[in-house]
Amino acid sequence: MGHTYTYRCEHCGYEEHFNQGHGYLVHSQPVTEYLKQRTKLFHYKTHNLVKQLSKKVKNLYLKAGFQVYKCHKCKILYDKIEVIIFNHEKVIHKSEFRCNKCRTRLRLTNIHRLKKATCPKCDHKTFQIDHQHQHLWD
Ligand SMILES: [Zn+2]
Ligand SMILES: [Zn+2]
Repeated sequence: MGHTYTYRCEHCGYEEHFNQGHGYLVHSQPVTEYLKQRTKLFHYKTHNLVKQLSKKVKNLYLKAGFQVYKCHKCKILYDKIEVIIFNHEKVIHKSEFRCNKCRTRLRLTNIHRLKKATCPKCDHKTFQIDHQHQHLWD
């Protein structure tokens, strides 16, 4: 289950959708189950890392979901699939992302509290949530 949020720029009209939550294909599961699947859901680097870790450590679990990240320098929002690999509650790996513009490490953002962000198209700080176009998915 998750939410899709629509953001729109008041200046240029640019629109983008952000997902947050867990979907059908992206959910918690044992790493061994994930590796049995034919589809590679994640970036190939993440996939290879999962594979390598599973050779070294037994009983690994994997949790993945859509998260909204923000660059605190540029105030640009990013929608990413966060992957967390853990073993007995201990986090072994967690996704990290960088801003396409300035390469600063992105931080998870609370989309419910976020007011205005920077529009990735026109750079104005007029990128904001459109409350009429939110919906739930599963
Ligand atoms: Zn704009
Ligand atoms: Zn940035």
